[in-house]
Amino acid sequence: TTAVDLAKSFLHRLRRTEPQLNSFLYVSPDEVVLKQAEELDYKIKNNEEVGPLAGIFVGVKDNICTSDMPSTAGSRLLENYCPPYDATAVRMLREGGAIVVGKTNLDEFGMGSTTEASAYQVTANPWDLSRVPGGSSGGSAAAVSARQCMAALGSDTGGSVRQPASFCGVVGLKPTYGRVSRYGLVAYASSLDVIGCFGSSVADAGILLHSISGHDKFDATSSKQEVPDYASQFVAIDHLESKPLKGLRVGVIRETLEEGVDPEVISSVRDAVSHLEELGCIVTEVSLPSFSLGLPAYYILASSESSSNLSRYDGVRYGNQVHGDGLNSLYGDSRAQGFGSEVKMRILMGTYALSAGYYDAYYKRAQQVRTIIQNSFKEALDKNDILISPAAPSVAYKIGEKKNDPLAMYAGDIMTVNVNLAGLPALVLPCGFVEGESASLPVGIQMIGAAFDEEKLLKIGHVFE
Ligand code: GLN
Repeated sequence: TTAVDLAKSFLHRLRRTEPQLNSFLYVSPDEVVLKQAEELDYKIKNNEEVGPLAGIFVGVKDNICTSDMPSTAGSRLLENYCPPYDATAVRMLREGGAIVVGKTNLDEFGMGSTTEASAYQVTANPWDLSRVPGGSSGGSAAAVSARQCMAALGSDTGGSVRQPASFCGVVGLKPTYGRVSRYGLVAYASSLDVIGCFGSSVADAGILLHSISGHDKFDATSSKQEVPDYASQFVAIDHLESKPLKGLRVGVIRETLEEGVDPEVISSVRDAVSHLEELGCIVTEVSLPSFSLGLPAYYILASSESSSNLSRYDGVRYGNQVHGDGLNSLYGDSRAQGFGSEVKMRILMGTYALSAGYYDAYYKRAQQVRTIIQNSFKEALDKNDILISPAAPSVAYKIGEKKNDPLAMYAGDIMTVNVNLAGLPALVLPCGFVEGESASLPVGIQMIGAAFDEEKLLKIGHVFE
């Protein structure tokens, strides 16, 4: 097949499924996509060099900047906003030959777990259209799950790549903090944010990661650590070997398989762990007593950082401006009309936690908890190659079910937020199904690795799937 044939078939499927799914906030015009595909075909025909992602059709979460498409972050405040540059990750994808087909839906500024907090539309879960795809990168996860694109970028501040990957039955990879440049990623909580990858296989996610990783002079927090050739090992692994994961130590986090977690999710994850054992892993149970502290610490820190990051939206520097009566009302009205209610709630929580009278009780306390969590992960990962938990305590739930119950929604992030607080890499992949009343719903397993050890996660994940 040619790149043009591939592009045509993906565009066709995307346009046919999009009215029911609403995964995209923007799709490139056919002629723009086809022109890029034609150029690739031309290069291939003339034996010119094309990148490792030549012709790969990708979706990009709409909080990641693209110079040729709007980047709204799911907010009215940035409606029609077109950044003057590509995010570093997008630039690298394009240099690799990928074709960016469009921008995917998300909870406004990444704040949410269902994609219902988008100011524009609600995305449906392709497995059951009455259910949420998860969030905040729900558009990217649904798009890959429905084969509207081959792979996608998302962002993960507290689980926004991994939880939607789990709900939509695709692979989601959250890299180590600093592995991928955040330049051009609309900031939510800068000490936690990371761009991540969606694919329909571990190899796809790994190949995507490889092309976007590395130091970037535009992001001082991006790491100078060398980028291993993640892609090479996908060929090297010999599936016929009887115990391909022999000797690898796997720690199952006890606190993640207890009360509050759907029993069917627990049994799927336990089955997956037995499979890892068959593949040669040495499985033990580990305890992270501080695990449940992650949720309150995360929500205090993420809200605090977001209240500061979002202060840039003043109606002057970016996006929509509401002309009021004087400067204060220009600021106030632009923000009042531009931000949705979830975002306003986070800003209120964050400014409260950072205020002089409460700083010690909340923000400082949460930072101390963060250190405890980091240390307990470090200890557990000194003794184990990877740690295991479910990706979420449940499978995808109904649209609207938790929309008016933010605490219940926040509680669903329990499996993922600790990993961001510790800055570690984690891979989520499908490991089973739960029978819903009208459809089978995918369950995801989460594998957590040591900092900058994405390679091991990808290897184990690849053999496992
Ligand atoms: N659901 C979490 C939140 O609302 C995580 C979101 C994310 O990772 N962007 O903050």
